[in-house]
Amino acid sequence: MIKIIKGAEVYNPNYLGVKDILIVSDKIAAIEDEIELSSGSNIDMEIIGAKNKIVTPGFIDSHVHITGGGGEGGFKTRTPEIMLTDITTGGITTVVGCLGTDGITRNMEGLLAKAKALEEEGISSFILTGSYRLPLTTITDDVMKDLLLIDKVIGAGEIALTDHRSSQPTTDALKQLSSAVRVGGILSGKAGIIVFHLGDGKDMLNKVFDIVENTEIPYSQFIPTHMNRNENLFKDAIRYAKAGGNIDFTTSSNAGEDEELSASRALKRCIEEGVPIEKITFTSDGQGSLPIFNDQHECIGLGIGKVSTLFEEVRKSFLLEKIPFDTCLKVITSNVANSLKLNKKGTIEIGKDADIVILNKEDLSIDSVIAMGKIMIRDKKTEVYGTFEKKI
Ligand code: ZN
Repeated sequence: MIKIIKGAEVYNPNYLGVKDILIVSDKIAAIEDEIELSSGSNIDMEIIGAKNKIVTPGFIDSHVHITGGGGEGGFKTRTPEIMLTDITTGGITTVVGCLGTDGITRNMEGLLAKAKALEEEGISSFILTGSYRLPLTTITDDVMKDLLLIDKVIGAGEIALTDHRSSQPTTDALKQLSSAVRVGGILSGKAGIIVFHLGDGKDMLNKVFDIVENTEIPYSQFIPTHMNRNENLFKDAIRYAKAGGNIDFTTSSNAGEDEELSASRALKRCIEEGVPIEKITFTSDGQGSLPIFNDQHECIGLGIGKVSTLFEEVRKSFLLEKIPFDTCLKVITSNVANSLKLNKKGTIEIGKDADIVILNKEDLSIDSVIAMGKIMIRDKKTEVYGTFEKKI
């Protein structure tokens, strides 16, 4: 199966100009000013006209509660599993699933099964082992074994710090875990990253600084997320990124929590502060609950995170914050692929997976989405539905 996307402005995420892109099966085979193939009688070839459109790499959302999350207000507040088109309509072609507060009624086996299901339905998927709490929830009872023996496991997380839902781990326990995840990553040829969920406690990133300053484990092993949760944490994030760490901003948020910075605003301020763009990623925290707690930490309301916010915040970074498009695109494409060592993802280059988003130039709305060479969305209409999704 051959496809040629013709005449689009290509951001790979760097701007390449107007190009044609040749897709053979599930890989990008050529990127040229013009590609013309004379079709033989039996060649299955499709031309996708993309004049006046923008082509970007498929987006990577590396923090999604694909099996649902939440439960902070009792069982009825457990959020449902995500559906394929929730993901693809947001331009996302690679997803990293994780557990959250609840590592009991949601478990790693279920997370792995859901990740496999999403891959069978057409997108690429990976998972993190663990949940908010230590001791870590795993599949094999050993985090290193999970990394070495289970292909989809690329790291651990999200482990909650400075949060009333955290297991309040000691720095020593975190150091030992970091070592196991790092060595498991080295031995399996994976990133072996640890995602830390940061709550609104006073300790902020102190424990993570302690690990990198007092062990041999490098900054690259960690991705602290929700760093736009409040102003103080955001300032600590800037300090951490300037010291060499990666930081992640969450795109779904509670409208009611006015202390929270939008991811687009946080990105702009980071650029103004001189934080290298390569250190910054966005994730949606999609399908998790967005509990609203009162001063006594009682749950008084609940929302649900949407993965579509991932690109919405990038769009706002460009349209409202006036950040160059190629720069803001990196936080959901190449930067994520680099920090997670997803070597076939995140850029439009020969030999990479054919994960592509086509945008309308006038309003940057998502026009079409191609995952592993297959058209999932075409001209804003869904072509591939999840197994149990109703076809509209
Ligand atoms: Zn979290």
